Amino acid sequence: MMNRRQFISAAAAGAAMVARIPNVLAQSIDLIIKGGRVIDPSIGLDAIRDIAIAGGRIVGVEPSIAGNAPDVIDARGKIVAPGLIDIHTHAGRGKDGPPLALQDGVTGWIDAGTAGADNIDAVAAVARSSPQIGRLLVNISRKGVMSGTGELHDINLANVDLARGAIARHRDVVVGMKVRMSNDVAEANDLECLRRAQEAAAPFNLPVMIHVGQNYSPMRAILPLLKRGDVVTHMYAPPPNSILDEQGRLFPDVTAARRRGVIFDFGNGVNGHFTWDMVEKAMKQGFWPDTFSTDWSVTSKTTGVVDFPNVMSKFLMFGMSLSQIIACATVAAARVFPAFDDRGTLNVGAPADVAIMELRDGDFQFVDNYKGTRNGKQRLFPITTVLGGKRVARA
Ligand SMILES: [Zn+2]
Repeated sequence: MMNRRQFISAAAAGAAMVARIPNVLAQSIDLIIKGGRVIDPSIGLDAIRDIAIAGGRIVGVEPSIAGNAPDVIDARGKIVAPGLIDIHTHAGRGKDGPPLALQDGVTGWIDAGTAGADNIDAVAAVARSSPQIGRLLVNISRKGVMSGTGELHDINLANVDLARGAIARHRDVVVGMKVRMSNDVAEANDLECLRRAQEAAAPFNLPVMIHVGQNYSPMRAILPLLKRGDVVTHMYAPPPNSILDEQGRLFPDVTAARRRGVIFDFGNGVNGHFTWDMVEKAMKQGFWPDTFSTDWSVTSKTTGVVDFPNVMSKFLMFGMSLSQIIACATVAAARVFPAFDDRGTLNVGAPADVAIMELRDGDFQFVDNYKGTRNGKQRLFPITTVLGGKRVARA
């Protein structure tokens, strides 16, 4: 218990803080984002707020922040969320990728296995020159995906020593390994390729992301090879060998994998990665995504991906709330890779990466990877991105 004197002194200090903060802000604020509906699941916030930014960081999230700033964004009628983090992209394919993704509100990206040991240097260079944080997963096939499909038909391309060399060479940007497990990529080599990816990652304590869908092996054979923190992308890929049995029920192995810390990621993509039927059946059984991702590349505008906010919007149709959707694309994604551990939040002190979006009402058609369509009543559109406290110019 405080005595009376301590109490008075603490109260006085509190009063001084309240008075002082606005003065400090008034001198140094670089940018104010005014009047938006701020949805930040990392701090359980969904309310109309002003956000003050100084020195590249969030310095205030308040009902009203007075004062002048060199730049003010009028966010009234808009959704203000932490910068989006997309954990499965191919943004590292070329220098033009990252700035394009930034326009969509993506302030952090993972290139998931575009390159393997033979061609990772170019992708690492793109990550290093990216305006926002870009990180890489090394494909266990030394050729990566750039040689087309089938990078694991020859098991000798899954070379552990070369993969470890690639990680060691690019320790600043490499955050894990990637294995594409589909039959058309790996055939019966799938499990051995995954074992080799784990072997390559182990000395560095890194996670492995697997791309599943129409695998040679069933999920019950694949999942035991995953450790806590590993990621299954394309979680709603249709059969053969999906997460559902022939009656459409989730395999117990799948829920068990989630319980022990395996992450299940949406991974929109273009071909073979999801059907609305799979999404609906799995979601009805409570198997929602941990994270969303686009499997994005510079050509995605003209595919069913369009942009990350469009991919997020698909789940509004299945009963996820806006705040749950934003969580999957921000704080939940940030937790998967330690490179993002100060991101995915608008908490005071965090780097000021912000995605300003608009939730429009209307009749929107969303497509799966098999030309299936579903109509939704709402869709998020990217409006303005703030990166490191600065408004990103529209392209
Ligand atoms: Zn991919």
